[in-house]
Amino acid sequence: MKRVILSLVPLMLLAGCGGRPGGRDGKPVIMVTIEPQRYFAQAIAGEKFDVVSMVPRGSSPETYDPVPRQLVELSESKAYLRIGYIGFEQTWMDRLLKSAPHLPVFDTSEGIDLIEEEGTHAHSPADTTIHAHAVEPHVWTSPVNALLIASNTCRALCQLDKGNEAYFLLRYDSLCRRIQRLDSVICRRLSTPGASKSFLVYHPTLTYFARDYGLRQVPIEEDGKEPSPAYLKQVIDLCRAERIRTIFVQPEFDTRNAETIARQTGTAVTPINPLSYDWEREMLRVADALLILPSSCDHLSK
Ligand SMILES: [Zn+2]
Repeated sequence: MKRVILSLVPLMLLAGCGGRPGGRDGKPVIMVTIEPQRYFAQAIAGEKFDVVSMVPRGSSPETYDPVPRQLVELSESKAYLRIGYIGFEQTWMDRLLKSAPHLPVFDTSEGIDLIEEEGTHAHSPADTTIHAHAVEPHVWTSPVNALLIASNTCRALCQLDKGNEAYFLLRYDSLCRRIQRLDSVICRRLSTPGASKSFLVYHPTLTYFARDYGLRQVPIEEDGKEPSPAYLKQVIDLCRAERIRTIFVQPEFDTRNAETIARQTGTAVTPINPLSYDWEREMLRVADALLILPSSCDHLSK
């Protein structure tokens, strides 16, 4: 299937001739993998580049397969900025670069203190080999890491367009100030006495967030797969013992297990979208959800 899509590329390239020059509004295009990266890159690139994400809104960056139109767009773009270790890149990067060998690639996770994973990070039960990587891939859900992603992004843009270096550096500076401000707001909120120190999440996308703020993340997934009844029981017991009050769920994943746990423990289910373009707002939402004061129904958890 994947091979078939790639063999369409030369044809699509011809069909693309005479189409849009450069990006969506005629600007040169920088490709990134996910929406939060587009947020960082667009903040720095301003009006000089159009930043386009490979993985569209609502798709999982672990299992997404590009469509032919995106391969055309990729071959016409100026560079690819990777987020680092996410499934889409593990599966597709080599093949994408074969279809666009001229394309400079930058890894925006360079310098991040990576967390090694125990077990595999499988996202589709049918596909166990592809995601068996040892690095926790959700590096962007952390203001500390975001500063490094921004710095790597800025360096890449300056290298691609030296004439606009001063412009990028100025915008990079103001992005860093926003990230630092966000970090101190989150720190302040999470250090109030009412803030939870642990939380449940269906898919463990908040590993780096948890590290930044000294929190404990308990995934409902078991090794990247649907939890077994025995594991689910363990999670429910832990939820009661630690008096966990928040279960985060993400739009790309099934919420039934989270709802079962919520019913049995009186815990609140909070939808989050760590893949949103609006990265700052999502980070704040996570912090706010951990601030929920014990409700009058708290006796349910006893
Ligand atoms: Zn993931």
